[in-house]
Amino acid sequence: VLPVVAIVGRPNVGKSTLFNRIINERLAIVEDEPGVTRDRNYAPAEWMGHKFDLIDTGGITWEDGRIEEEIRAQAEIAIEEADVIVMLTSVVNGVTDLDERVAQLLYKTKKPVILAVNKADNPEQRANIYDFYSLGLGDPIPVSGSHGTGIGDLLDEIIAKF
Ligand code: GDP
Ligand code: MG
Repeated sequence: VLPVVAIVGRPNVGKSTLFNRIINERLAIVEDEPGVTRDRNYAPAEWMGHKFDLIDTGGITWEDGRIEEEIRAQAEIAIEEADVIVMLTSVVNGVTDLDERVAQLLYKTKKPVILAVNKADNPEQRANIYDFYSLGLGDPIPVSGSHGTGIGDLLDEIIAKF
C-alpha cells in the first residue's frame, strides 16, 4: 500500500493545477482521452523513487454544498485517508478567513501537515509568504503551480514525512 498525500485548501488557490503538475504525466494524458471529462482527483505520483497516491480533495464536490461545508468535508477526507496533508493557499489574497478555517480543521490531526503557498510566481510574491506563519502550521513553502517553481522543495518535504 502506497502512502497517500492529500491537497486541501479553499477554492481557487491552485489545488488542481498543483495536482496536475505532481501526478504522473503519462497517466494524465491517458485520462485525457475523448469522453473523459470528469475532474480527476486521485492519481499515482512519484518523486525521487518514492511512489505515492495523490488526492485533490477539491475535486470532490457536494451539490448545493456551501463553501464552509465543502472545506470541512474535504479536510475530513484528508485527515481520514492521507498520511501527509498539504494545505495549499495563495499569496495573492494574503491570509483569508477561509484559510484560517482550513488550518483550524487541520489542527485536529496528529498527521503531518505541510503548508504550501501557491502563486508565488516571482521574488516580490515570494517575499510575502511570511504572513502565512500566522496559520500556525510551520514554515510556509512558496510554490508556483503554473510556473512549476518550488514544487521540488515541496515534494522533498512530503517524502521526508513518509
Ligand atoms: P483550485 O480551485 O484550488 O483547484 O484552483 P485551480 O487549480 O483551478 O486554479 C485556480 C486559478 O488559479 C486558475 O485560473 C489557475 O490558472 C490559477 N493558478 C493556479 N496556479 C497558479 C500559480 O501558481 N500562479 C498563478 N498566477 N495562477 C495560478
Ligand atoms: Mg480544483
